[in-house]
Amino acid sequence: MSSPAVQAKNEPASVNGSSQNVSGIRVSGGPGGAPTLHRRIIVIGAGFGGLGMAIRLLQKGERDFLVLEKASDVGGTWRDNTYPGCQCDVASNMYSYSFAPNPNWSRSFAMQGEIWQYLRDCADRFGVRELIRFDTELLSARWNEETQRWHIETNKGPMTADVIVSGHGGLSAPSVPELPGLERFEGTVFHSAAWNHEHDLSGERVAVVGTGASSIQIVPNIQPRVRELHLFQRTPPWVVPRLDYVRSEAKKAVFRSLPFLQKLDRMQIYLARELIVLAMRGNTKVRGLIQRVAEKHLERQVPEPVLRKKLTPTYEIGCKRILISNDYYPALTQPNVKVVTQGIARVTERGVVTTDGLEHELDTIVLATGFKVTNHPIASALIGRDGRSLAEHWATGAVAYLGTTVTEFPNLFLLTGPYTGIGHNSIVYMLEAQFEYVLGALAALKEQNAAAVNVRPEAMRAFEDEMQRELQGTAWNSGCASWYLDANGRNTSVWPTFTWRFRNRTKTFDSAAHAFEPRRAVAGRTAGAKTASLVA
Ligand SMILES: Cc1cc2nc3c(=O)[nH]c(=O)nc-3n(C[C@H](O)[C@H](O)[C@H](O)COP(=O)(O)OP(=O)(O)OC[C@H]3O[C@@H](n4cnc5c(N)ncnc54)[C@H](O)[C@@H]3O)c2cc1C
Repeated sequence: MSSPAVQAKNEPASVNGSSQNVSGIRVSGGPGGAPTLHRRIIVIGAGFGGLGMAIRLLQKGERDFLVLEKASDVGGTWRDNTYPGCQCDVASNMYSYSFAPNPNWSRSFAMQGEIWQYLRDCADRFGVRELIRFDTELLSARWNEETQRWHIETNKGPMTADVIVSGHGGLSAPSVPELPGLERFEGTVFHSAAWNHEHDLSGERVAVVGTGASSIQIVPNIQPRVRELHLFQRTPPWVVPRLDYVRSEAKKAVFRSLPFLQKLDRMQIYLARELIVLAMRGNTKVRGLIQRVAEKHLERQVPEPVLRKKLTPTYEIGCKRILISNDYYPALTQPNVKVVTQGIARVTERGVVTTDGLEHELDTIVLATGFKVTNHPIASALIGRDGRSLAEHWATGAVAYLGTTVTEFPNLFLLTGPYTGIGHNSIVYMLEAQFEYVLGALAALKEQNAAAVNVRPEAMRAFEDEMQRELQGTAWNSGCASWYLDANGRNTSVWPTFTWRFRNRTKTFDSAAHAFEPRRAVAGRTAGAKTASLVA
C-alpha cells in the first residue's frame, strides 16, 4: 500500500508487520509491512448521526473508536446546506439531542448557522472532536472472512475495524438531475446543498429548479434581490403555516433554570407531531383537517386564481413531505416571479428550453433538486462477505432489519437506513433509538465473546414484509412520485407508523434475530487479539 495509513495523534509506527501499542493507539501490520490502523469501531460521518453515536459510545466508556468525516468540520446537513433561509422544519426543542437540550435556541425553528453551532458545541462539550479524523473519506470497506474484520480504504490510507457504524446521512449526497445540455450553460450553476456564496444573485435572472423543502426556503429569500425568478415546478407541494417565533429571553431563562419545563415543551411538540401519523395511516378526519389548513393557507396567500391553480397539488396530502412556510406563497405572487410548470426539455448556452419550446433566458440556475436517497454512494462502497456491495444487494429494494442491520454484512450498523425515514417528526429521535440499538449489539458481542453478529435472513425478510404491509393504504404510498420511492417505484424509505414504536422495537438488541459468530484463530486475528489485551 503506497498511501500513508490514517494517522492518529502521536501514532506510533508499526515495525514490519508486527503490532504495537503506544499511548493507547493500536497498530497492526498491514500488507507489505505498512502500518494499518485498527479500531474496534469506525463511525462514518459526523452529522447528527455519527456525532451522536460517538457521544453515546464515549458515555458508555468506549474509547476504541474513530469517526471518519470527509469534510473539515462536524455538522453534516447543517454544515453543507448554507443556502439563504436554511432552517429546520421540526421545532429545535425536538430537533436536537435529548441528552443535550439547548435552552438558548433563539427561535422555535433555528436557522442553519445556529444548528451547526449546536453540533460543534456538542462535539467539544462531550469531548469527541479528538476522536474524529476530518478530511478522511471512507472509499470502500470490505468484510474479510478470515480476519473477521472490515478492511477499509480511505483517501488517507487503509485501516481495519471490527465494527462499522455508518452515519453517512440519508440526505448528504446531492442529486443533480440529468438535464440535457446543462454542461453547455454559460451562466452559473450550483446545487442548493453547495451554495455558491461568491456569486451575487442581485439583479440576475435566476432559475430555481425544484419545489421541495430547500426550494421553498430559498425562493422567498432570493426573490427580493433577483431581477427575474423562474421557479421550475414539476409538482407543487402541500404547504401549511410555520408556527415560528423568536424565543424571548424570559423563556430561555425559564428553560435554563427549570429544565423539566423544556422537557415538557419537547414532549408536547413530539406528541403533536405524532398525530400526523394518524393522517398518514388513513384517518380521513385528521388528513382532511390538515388538507383544509393547507388549502386555506394557499387561498389566503394566493388570491389570483390562475397562479393558485398552478400551486394546488393534485395528489393526496402526505404522499410527499408536507412543507411549512409563511413566505413561500407571498414570494410567488411578486411580479418578478414566474412559476413554470412545463417540463425542462433542455438547457442551452443562454437558459432553459421547456417542453412547449419556450426559451427562458437565465444568468444562474439553482438546482434545488434534493438528494440521492435510495441510491446513496455509500451503498456501493460497502462490500459484504459474499463480495457483493450493498448497492448490488439492494438492486431490487433496499432493506435492513430495523433499518440497521443487513444480512451478509456482519458488524455493520446503518444509521438512518431503509425504512427509518420520517417527514413528520425529528430524525434525531430515530437516530437516538438506533444509537441504543447499536450499543446493545456491541454489548451482546462482548458478552458472547463473539467476533461478529449478523442479522438472520429470515428476520430481515420478515421485517421487510412487515414494512410493506404497514405501508399499504397509507398516504406515503398513495401513488405520487416522491423521493421515498426507489428506482423500482417501491417505498423503502419511510418508517410507516408512530416513531415510539420504532423506539420500543430498538430498546433492546434483538439477539434472537441475529447470529453470533465465534472468533477464529487466524494469524491476523491473533496478532490483533494480542495487541487488544495490551490495550485493555
Ligand atoms: C436542508 C435540510 C433541512 C432538514 N431539516 C430537517 C428537520 O427539520 N428535521 C429533521 O428531522 N430532519 C431534517 N433534515 C434531515 C437531516 O438530514 C437529518 O435530520 C440529519 O441532519 C441527518 O444527520 P446524519 O448525521 O444522519 O446525516 P448528515 O447530517 O448528512 O451527515 C452525514 C455526514 O457523513 C459524512 N460522510 C458521508 N459519506 C462519507 C464517507 N464516505 N466518508 C466520510 N464521511 C462521510 C458527510 O460529510 C456528513 O458530514 C433536513 C435535511 C436538509 C438537507
